[in-house]
Amino acid sequence: VQERLDLLKSNTHNTVNSLLDTLALDLAAKVDVKIAGGQEIGLLEGIPFGIKDVYMVQGTLTTASSDLLKKYKSPYTATAIQKLLDTGAIPLVKENCDSFGHGSSSENTIFGAVKNAINTDLVSGGSSGGSAVNVAKDFTVFSIGGDTGGSVRQPAGYNKIYGLKPTYGRISRFGLMAYASSTDCVGPIAKSIEDIRIVLNVMSGKDIKDQTTYQSKAISEQNILNADEIKTVGYFKNFIETDAIDAKVKADFLSAIGKIKAKGIEVKELDFFESDTLVSTYYTLAMAETASNLSRLDGTNYGNRIEGVNLKDTYSITRSENFSEETKRRIVGGNQVLSQGFSDEIYLKGLNLRDQISENFEKDFKEVDIILSPVTPNSPPKIGDSLKDPLAMYLSDAYTVGFSLGQLPTLTVPQGTETGLQITAAKNNDELVLKFANFLK
Ligand code: GLN
Repeated sequence: VQERLDLLKSNTHNTVNSLLDTLALDLAAKVDVKIAGGQEIGLLEGIPFGIKDVYMVQGTLTTASSDLLKKYKSPYTATAIQKLLDTGAIPLVKENCDSFGHGSSSENTIFGAVKNAINTDLVSGGSSGGSAVNVAKDFTVFSIGGDTGGSVRQPAGYNKIYGLKPTYGRISRFGLMAYASSTDCVGPIAKSIEDIRIVLNVMSGKDIKDQTTYQSKAISEQNILNADEIKTVGYFKNFIETDAIDAKVKADFLSAIGKIKAKGIEVKELDFFESDTLVSTYYTLAMAETASNLSRLDGTNYGNRIEGVNLKDTYSITRSENFSEETKRRIVGGNQVLSQGFSDEIYLKGLNLRDQISENFEKDFKEVDIILSPVTPNSPPKIGDSLKDPLAMYLSDAYTVGFSLGQLPTLTVPQGTETGLQITAAKNNDELVLKFANFLK
């Protein structure tokens, strides 16, 4: 624990918002005493992990990488994190990320852009960039990211490790700062499928404090694919046959598909919504939800209050001075699509498209067991480039957001293409996703 805290402290990738050193060393000392006394310890006991800085951990700073919350301390602990603490795992760090989860590059943060683990000129991906880099660099054994539209899967891909977005509702969101509540998911990032499985099992389960949760069966260690479990996999033709994909990503993906065919699995091409439709549906709904969720941050109960001449002025100055440009763009966009005169045309249309997307998935999973896709159409951009062109950044989410809208379980594995392969199964079938990943290894 001490060694990893030192590595985190001196690292130049900007992964750390705050270190939990006192807590971590205290917990580690207790594990040492148990070991010295010859007591048996649990599987995760003493294992150091990281936490994206959007999770409540009682008494710790929880900033969401924003000026607005830079002094905010959590009054309670998130359910998913509490479950890990109960197993004896040791939290080392609150990790840098895009402010409130808004971004795909971990540059929208007051703590400095997170640098990619493999090439420091490139972005780490986002929004859970600090979490992915900490795992890739072995500063943490695993980290807990948050995935609303790709924020675990895309940085996992950019740093060549594993990242899972479980089925929506499998893990409680209680104590995860809300971005877009209808797609927010708690997601583990790790270097092996087995670590993902263990951490997923610990965090899963029904929680009275999050009414969207459900009870799931633990995934067993013997998650080996039986020959009859996968007959057919599919991929979306229009994700691949488009000018919007890098030639190399396309070629690598098709060669990965070729290898799967060679293993005797049937591969089907599927029809799906255009990427532009997926991206605009996701951003319409995500902006609407975040505008609503962030309305409470006005300097009254929460936030770095900046006094104005009257209360209205105080709200307005507090919010304009403390929110980043990207977050303001989303709040303005979200309030617009929710306002009278626009909501029927835009927001309701978004909801309707989302239903159609879900129906499409249900139909697809009658034909195929797994859907494969690249994680991103592009390779990781250089630091600074995404900030110049927000629309290009939104479009780079083309392959992750659809599965979020469908609330499906989906995993990034570090193979296939430069930014990885995304393995998706039907709702509640997280086990099959992990089995298929093992099969591909
Ligand atoms: N890049 C997407 C967005 O900015 C997804 C982010 C996330 O999953 N938190 O909304």
